[in-house]
Amino acid sequence: MSVFVTMIPAWLAQTTPTGGSGFMGIHMGYLLVMGGTMLLSFLISSTLKRRFHEYSQIPLRITGAQVAELMLRQNGIYDVKVMHTPGHLTDHYDPTNKTVNLSEAVYHQNSVAAAAVAAHECGHAVQHQTAYAWLGFRSRMVPMVNIASQLMNVVMLLGVVGMFALGNGALIWVIVACLGVTTAFALVTLPVEFDASRRAMVWLESSGLANSMEHDRAKNALFWAAMTYVAGAIGSAAMLVYYLMQVMGSRRE
Ligand SMILES: [Zn+2]
Repeated sequence: MSVFVTMIPAWLAQTTPTGGSGFMGIHMGYLLVMGGTMLLSFLISSTLKRRFHEYSQIPLRITGAQVAELMLRQNGIYDVKVMHTPGHLTDHYDPTNKTVNLSEAVYHQNSVAAAAVAAHECGHAVQHQTAYAWLGFRSRMVPMVNIASQLMNVVMLLGVVGMFALGNGALIWVIVACLGVTTAFALVTLPVEFDASRRAMVWLESSGLANSMEHDRAKNALFWAAMTYVAGAIGSAAMLVYYLMQVMGSRRE
């Protein structure tokens, strides 16, 4: 659960080329897009935190680490290691070294929340083993996304130094291209995340680890975790649309 889409900080809005007229209008548009997506992701992440806190109080028989080991073995996976990693909500599956990395709390806790997260990360391991197409596609996009993110940082830095002097037209197209890449990545991430949660719930159900009440709680926790990715994708797409409108607007003048 650790994919973050690079967002353009609000203070950079100051350097956004505005194309003469309607400065306040465009500026307000930017603030609306940024404010709206930030509010959405804040609401989702605070709900996620609240639910996880609540569901981490509901005990299960085994710890997150044991859930992961069990789910992997029962899916016929023996070459994936279950490890613990520092931080909170830092849980992820690493396909490059085939490790399920669980945050300390999830690794050691025996709760509905820990089981849901552990099973979700193992869902990614199962995707990897079964060559799930969207996961492969997403992995192949990673190098391009890294370049786009770094490029965007450089462009933003140039923007601060003096975007107007350097010529807005070319730079804004670079931003649009970079946002296109990060938005595509955020969208490809969605089926990967929803599918991992689906696999987690199918296994939790068949394992008999959780009763129906616990099962519903686990499902709810994973729903809100998935919503953070939806918010990320919406935020990225909104920025892309905003900058595209900027380009179109300046062309018309
Ligand atoms: Zn995930």
